[in-house]
Amino acid sequence: MKQIESYDFSGKKAIVRVDFNVPLNENFEITDDTRIRAAIPTLKKVLAGGGSLIIMSHLGRPKGPADKFSLKHIISRVEELLGTTVKFAPDCQKAQAEAAALKPGEVLILENLRFYAEEEGKPRGLAEDASDEEKKAAKAAVKESQKEFTKVLASYADCYINDAFGTAHRAHASTALIAKYFPEDKMYGYLMEGEIKAIDNVLKNAKHPFTAIIGGSKVSSKLEVLKNLVTKVDNLIIGGGMGYTFIKAQGGRIGNSLHEDDLIPDALEIIRIAKEKGVNLSLSTETCIANEFSNDSETKFVASDDIPDGWEGMDAGPASLEAWKKIILSSKTILWNGPVGVFEMPSFAKGTLQIAEDLAEATANGAYTLVGGGDSVAAVTQMGYADKVSYVSTGGGAMLEAIEGKDLPGIAAIRD
Ligand code: AMP
Repeated sequence: MKQIESYDFSGKKAIVRVDFNVPLNENFEITDDTRIRAAIPTLKKVLAGGGSLIIMSHLGRPKGPADKFSLKHIISRVEELLGTTVKFAPDCQKAQAEAAALKPGEVLILENLRFYAEEEGKPRGLAEDASDEEKKAAKAAVKESQKEFTKVLASYADCYINDAFGTAHRAHASTALIAKYFPEDKMYGYLMEGEIKAIDNVLKNAKHPFTAIIGGSKVSSKLEVLKNLVTKVDNLIIGGGMGYTFIKAQGGRIGNSLHEDDLIPDALEIIRIAKEKGVNLSLSTETCIANEFSNDSETKFVASDDIPDGWEGMDAGPASLEAWKKIILSSKTILWNGPVGVFEMPSFAKGTLQIAEDLAEATANGAYTLVGGGDSVAAVTQMGYADKVSYVSTGGGAMLEAIEGKDLPGIAAIRD
């Protein structure tokens, strides 16, 4: 692999996988351009080095070509941010002429890769009652045509850059398979480099004490994350809805709080490993409870293991937040993923916002702090702290898989 910083782009065509999967409103206007802005340093680097750009991305989850998922809707914003005009290839598989005609400094965006089933390599349009044999045959067929699809994309360019961390956990044509066509000329973009370094800073090079704060709704969606982290951290704070499964597992009364009975054995196993390894597993001790799942419900604070029937835990209470703050401020490395309450409802966002504030304070005191996941990122952004933590990850799913300890296909394809 090569490094983007030192690669000579002069006269070269670079095909760059970005994550331009931005939210659009009903008038096809971009409502949050964070993902586009995140890729701009990489794109500008190629142009400043005398190269030309072929940009490829997906947008949404189309089942085939569909105007509402067209990348044409985002071109004007890319032009604004790059400060240059951008050409558009309306079919990502028929862009040979447009790509060949590109001169240094010019930019071409390919239409949504997912208009083709080959991008993801998953069959489409299978009858609901298709037999296992038919499913198998359809899968084999799309995997076969995926090779040609990938080869066509690769034929447009001299070098390949992957800057789409948000899809790095997918082994798709444009995120992983294409890399083999550029054995000497493949590299990470700046955003990917930043994300990889941030993850290494916590998983490989953490300064201790190392604390992970894992919140969110369900243990089941973050079980592998917890299992991996409990072997690495000094403190494991488990908050939000998933905390109640742990509290119940230890005999607590959790009323109507969210929980997963079938995950109790896993919760007990994590508690056991934490004890064995001397990890401080910190659950909520005081909870803000509500008599219905609504922002305007009646609320009170109770011990987290003594929640009355008819009431449910909605947010961390002051005693929990105080204890967690102490842990956070005495840590040198902190990883945070997931809200410690029902963050979408302002009445129950306080705990999550407090964690954001604690992380900013810890960062100012010299700790390394990494934040990922939709609600946690929203909390630091809402508090104006996005620049006051060490790193805000752009890829929720990809970051979770990385902290599960998985080798992400998009990262491995460039590195190996
Ligand atoms: P996740 O996608 O796993 O990070 O979970 C985020 C979701 O967890 C958000 O929608 C929160 O509302 C939800 N959540 C956090 N705490 C609770 C809780 N105590 N009860 C129910 N849902 C919660």
